Amino acid sequence: MIEQKPLFAKLFILLLLLLCCTGCGKETDIPAWRPNILFISLDTLRSDHLHCYGYPLEISPVMDRLAAQGALFTNVVAQSPWTLPSHISLFTSLYPSTVAGISGRFRIVPAMKTLAACLREAGYKTGGFTGGGNIAAHFGFHHGFDLYDDQGGGILNIRKRAMAWAEEHRQDNFFLLVHCYDIHHPYVTGTPYDERFSEGYTGDLVPDKPTLVSINRGDTEMSEADRKFIISRYDAGIYYTDEQVGYLLNDLMKLDTGRDLLILVTSDHGEELGERGMMGWHGHTLYQEMTSIPLILCYPDSIPENTVIRTRIRGVDLMPTLLDYARVTPPENIAGKSLRSLLEGHGEEDRDAYAEKYVNNNFDLRHGLQDRKFSTDQFSLIRDQWKYILFVNGDDELYNLTADPDETRNLIEEEKKIAEDLRKALGEVMTRYGAGRENVLMPDGSRLDEQTRQQLKELGYIE
Ligand SMILES: [Zn+2]
Repeated sequence: MIEQKPLFAKLFILLLLLLCCTGCGKETDIPAWRPNILFISLDTLRSDHLHCYGYPLEISPVMDRLAAQGALFTNVVAQSPWTLPSHISLFTSLYPSTVAGISGRFRIVPAMKTLAACLREAGYKTGGFTGGGNIAAHFGFHHGFDLYDDQGGGILNIRKRAMAWAEEHRQDNFFLLVHCYDIHHPYVTGTPYDERFSEGYTGDLVPDKPTLVSINRGDTEMSEADRKFIISRYDAGIYYTDEQVGYLLNDLMKLDTGRDLLILVTSDHGEELGERGMMGWHGHTLYQEMTSIPLILCYPDSIPENTVIRTRIRGVDLMPTLLDYARVTPPENIAGKSLRSLLEGHGEEDRDAYAEKYVNNNFDLRHGLQDRKFSTDQFSLIRDQWKYILFVNGDDELYNLTADPDETRNLIEEEKKIAEDLRKALGEVMTRYGAGRENVLMPDGSRLDEQTRQQLKELGYIE
């Protein structure tokens, strides 16, 4: 055995070299033009609740201004309706099923080249500051980061820690990730934000986790005034978070780095606010309120002001886009495609958008969701104006998103030929990316570290 060690070592080095060759492009010198990159993921932010996306209330002045200084994508599809798998797609440009097929669960392992890992190989210093929970290091989200801080504690604390790190790395070429759960339920932001959009409400409902669970189980009745009030509190979280993003951007702009800053703002999924009979909830369907996420890209001198892109794109396209602007070769076999040519004015057809949701029986049981039709694995494909949704233990549905953007009229019987074509196309996508129950185990809660357990408890995912 001892004699074999050198051979093992040689093989190991060879393997490493091979991995480097098939992975991201490697560069040792860092050109001055290469931008610093700020990636902001605001958990649970549905795009249609931002003013720049047409929401009537002016609840997002910072993000509105950012969109005016750069590009706004009006049609962005998340690959999953909940935090863990959707962020996997944002940070690996792979579908969650593909990742679970490799690691057995929704978990990032070192063999997967993350956005941060690619940038770090190219010379970037990489820092991640997140709310933890479903994107804690426990689930592999730290891979590729020099420092991954998943302590959480709200965006105020997260942005301060992020800023301290950026100050420390002002001379470096850096990639900074900031993520928070301040928009996520429970909708309790604090005074004066909570009162900002709820004027005139005289009820006594408190939109915390037990109340939302009780409404969704059918134990608590909700009036129309209650529903509007709950939405006002969701909006309060957006307003507060937007303000905090403003402070972070101000601080970063004051930092004398000598480099341009490329800013990306997005989310991982939306939120149901009564559309299907659920309130303040996500993760259970693939309808538009769940999968339509915002995307704002700001990169002065490269992306013209007031750019609006209506072409449909996907969460998996974000990683190759950022790598493209940093001129770093993306890993092979990723599912996404850079948005740069779109941003440079080259027209393109809408991209087919796939999304998936695996049911978590334990979670559904605890929250009284097991009797709902959406308590089953779901897969969807959007092509042209059509959206096809497969409910694995039930029916399938077809919607014309142009004529019926709210998905209220299922055309599965009326448009048999289109449904059949999309059913076939979805099947091909699922086969190609290894989607299917046998690949995917839900996260194992029994081995969580105490910090992650506490964060998931506060977010309502575990007892
Ligand atoms: Zn989330």
